[in-house]
Amino acid sequence: MTPADSSLYDYVIVGAGSAGCVLANRLSASGRHRVLLLEAGPPDRSIWIHIPIGYGKTMFHPVYNWGFSTEPDPGMNGRRIYWPRGRGLGGSSSINGLIFIRGQPQDYDRWAALGNPGWAWRDVLPYFIRSEHNTRGASAYHGADGPLWCSDIEDKHELMEAIIRAAGEIGVPRNDDFNGPSQEGVGYYQLFTRNGWRCSTAVAYLRPARKRANLRIETDAHATAVLFEGARATGVRYRQRGVERVAAAAREVILAAGALQSPQLLQLSGVGRAEELVRLGIPVVRDLPGVGENLQDHLQLRLIYRVAKPITTNDELRSAFGKLRIGLKWLLQRKGPLAIGINQGGLFTRVLPESETPDIQFHFATLSADMAGGEPHPWSGCTFSVCQLRPESRGRVIVRSRDPFQPPAMIPNYLSTETDCRCAVEGIKFARRLAAAPALREYLIEEYRPGPAAARDEQLLEFARDYGATIFHPSGTCKMGEDRMAVVDARLRVRGVAGLRVADCSIMPTLVSGNTNAAAVMIGEKASDLVLEDNKI
Ligand SMILES: Cc1cc2nc3c(=O)[nH]c(=O)nc-3n(C[C@H](O)[C@H](O)[C@H](O)COP(=O)(O)OP(=O)(O)OC[C@H]3O[C@@H](n4cnc5c(N)ncnc54)[C@H](O)[C@@H]3O)c2cc1C
Repeated sequence: MTPADSSLYDYVIVGAGSAGCVLANRLSASGRHRVLLLEAGPPDRSIWIHIPIGYGKTMFHPVYNWGFSTEPDPGMNGRRIYWPRGRGLGGSSSINGLIFIRGQPQDYDRWAALGNPGWAWRDVLPYFIRSEHNTRGASAYHGADGPLWCSDIEDKHELMEAIIRAAGEIGVPRNDDFNGPSQEGVGYYQLFTRNGWRCSTAVAYLRPARKRANLRIETDAHATAVLFEGARATGVRYRQRGVERVAAAAREVILAAGALQSPQLLQLSGVGRAEELVRLGIPVVRDLPGVGENLQDHLQLRLIYRVAKPITTNDELRSAFGKLRIGLKWLLQRKGPLAIGINQGGLFTRVLPESETPDIQFHFATLSADMAGGEPHPWSGCTFSVCQLRPESRGRVIVRSRDPFQPPAMIPNYLSTETDCRCAVEGIKFARRLAAAPALREYLIEEYRPGPAAARDEQLLEFARDYGATIFHPSGTCKMGEDRMAVVDARLRVRGVAGLRVADCSIMPTLVSGNTNAAAVMIGEKASDLVLEDNKI
């Protein structure tokens, strides 16, 4: 496409990630609208994207992963935290840990209470259901006809079974459906997989739509600015394989570039805090001080245990025979560690007295490594990763210069409130109570990290600051609402300009209590209805 044929589109969507692929499908479904989807990364051709265990390979991949790092964070004792983000069709849904969690109904009721009509649990549940193809079938909570596959982990693991028994011994009930009537409890996760393959949004939503004559998908197309005529967005400038191009949007531009790059693109385009834009020499289109603010993330604290029996994934990956066995298991049955990614099971519970619903989540992996996605230890190991579900700490994302190819500064401010610090300490103590329960005695021989020397609360907090890392859910940087810091309204329209929306994890006013992919897909689903409703003629 060149500037000459740039008037071809009704809608230009920036970013083919979890939300962007949903929008591309739904907006092009009727055949009446011309839709352009721009994605900075490549097509999703690598086998490591599609086999779940490829998670370890894409975690640091130079092409399929933006591989960002935060600014040195005082809450992390000055460390920069590695922030992977998907790059290419499917976005982060092509490289994520596949875990299907929606969050708690109260999360969405809170969004509505913050001035966002239409986003309460009863409003968003139909969109979750519409997106879902749950292999368990349809119910009041689940869908079976949607494009996004959610499947059970069929193999039960001896260690995970012991963890479930141990949790029962300390009062945590078994829960076979974290997305059902109650999130609280312990059990296996359901995964975004289809017959042992990753079900990214590119697979679920783009594949069935890509042949539509009215949908154009451009990869290696990096959006560099939203174009405005006055206060109306009229198109997008992008660079594709070294060539500058312009795509015009007759109706709307929709940013779905994720919680780090949607605010970056707004700022580069003159929508943001005016004094900061002026300082960088960016002409101001709209003074919107909330752009890039309100950054929230889940911080994971990983307790690592040495395991008494050679039953962990570390053991299988260590020997050639083990690798062959798990490879064959996947090839023949689409089961086993290759079909899982990393984490098998989870646990949701309360550790703070003031919490009315679960305030921490565990991810259990029958594998251990010094960092998520890193090289497995050369001994039998497992990981209990604990994270606070609703952190109070708030950070920000801000462009450093006018250069659209320079990543913005990412400032998480982890563990910067008293509640977050208390929750981190209580979460670690809870993990230790679980590890000490009778059912795990014959399995866990030693706490490798943080290790027994860390005993007092101050030492546990120090462990959190020294070793804490992201669990990959940055959100909230173009929050929806009606206060001065809100960036979009409840219909996801950018405040004070026309023809421009944001629809991805940036719009969350508060982070949901759990993993964020299902919520991003729901946002894409609901956004597509909002766009079509508002453009009825
Ligand atoms: C390693 C990892 C593990 C995770 N594990 C889980 C999990 O197990 N379960 C879960 O629910 N969630 C998980 N998440 C989180 C979840 O995947 C994300 O929250 C979700 O995918 C975000 O969706 P999004 O639409 O907001 O953005 P993304 O899916 O990140 O999409 C943004 C897209 O925009 C593109 N883009 C960015 N800038 C531009 C530009 N200027 N021009 C053109 N295109 C651009 C990007 O390349 C990307 O494709 C994980 C995330 C990561 C990174």
